[in-house]
Amino acid sequence: MQAKSIDGKSIAAQVRARVRLRADRFYERTGRRVGLAVILVGEDPASRIYVRNKIAACEEAGIRSASYRLDADTPADKIVELIETLNADSGIDGILVQLPLPRGIDEKKVLEHVAPHKDVDGFHAVNAGNLLLGNACLAACTPQGCIELIRSTGVPIEGKNAVVVGRSNIVGKPMAMLLLQNNATVTIAHSKTTDLKSLTLRADILVAAVGKKEFITADMIKPGAVVIDVGMNREDGKLFGDVQFSGAQAVAGHITPVPGGVGPMTIAMLLQNTVTAAERTEHA
Ligand code: NDP
Repeated sequence: MQAKSIDGKSIAAQVRARVRLRADRFYERTGRRVGLAVILVGEDPASRIYVRNKIAACEEAGIRSASYRLDADTPADKIVELIETLNADSGIDGILVQLPLPRGIDEKKVLEHVAPHKDVDGFHAVNAGNLLLGNACLAACTPQGCIELIRSTGVPIEGKNAVVVGRSNIVGKPMAMLLLQNNATVTIAHSKTTDLKSLTLRADILVAAVGKKEFITADMIKPGAVVIDVGMNREDGKLFGDVQFSGAQAVAGHITPVPGGVGPMTIAMLLQNTVTAAERTEHA
């Protein structure tokens, strides 16, 4: 039997529609639009496209965006100065620093200046720590999107064996924490894991966040599993996931395509975090 394809585009559209409603209600209550500041440093072509897409998505969701473009040779303390100004700006609810920053700029140092309550990417240590502790926080967007996609299948997360392949701070680790919060039994695999296949074959929920084209093959997948492919690997202008899709489709129960799976959810969750940040400030 063919796995059901999880339609990230349509699920993301539903999330964006809910965000629009919340953003409009916020406007009716407060007389101002939810605001997102987007900082782009340098001219990286992929980053420019991502920023353009994020700004367009804001507009569609009733969120005011303010974009700041800085030259690639802008010193880190100037970027920090801008972040501090935006931290103090009551019209700005979320601050996004588009990554990667140009070589030579310490990303970690820059990002730690974003006020945690405006850190809509969920990368700040305070948000990562609160996620670990199970406290209210702004969680990283891509893993939040993956949870929505898993929920959309109707397969309960509770009690399932979940395996996350990848342990980055922006995907793998927060993904594992969110699955744990949803009462899955979670295993995190990484490049030093031995006998990965024996782990993935036990996964009712398998999340691949490795960054290697078609790394997960059909023989590594438990029949009927929910397979979430975070990977975005570009080759000759084409996008490939971390999962070998056609093979996996014959084994899995549900699977995300690439493109059209996790990707659209990341921006939707960014918008959701921004409106959440605004609502929390309103009630603070
Ligand atoms: P990183 O490179 O930061 O992390 C990759 C992880 O994979 C590391 O933890 C690494 O282990 C692990 N890994 C590498 N090789 C193996 C192996 N042979 N076996 C098991 N684990 C291995 O990547 P990211 O987490 O940032 O991103 C992962 C993928 O997701 C990329 O393709 C990226 O483009 C994509 N992505 C997609 C997004 C979307 O919106 N769809 C958003 C963000 C990322 P170790 O820690 O030991 O090195």
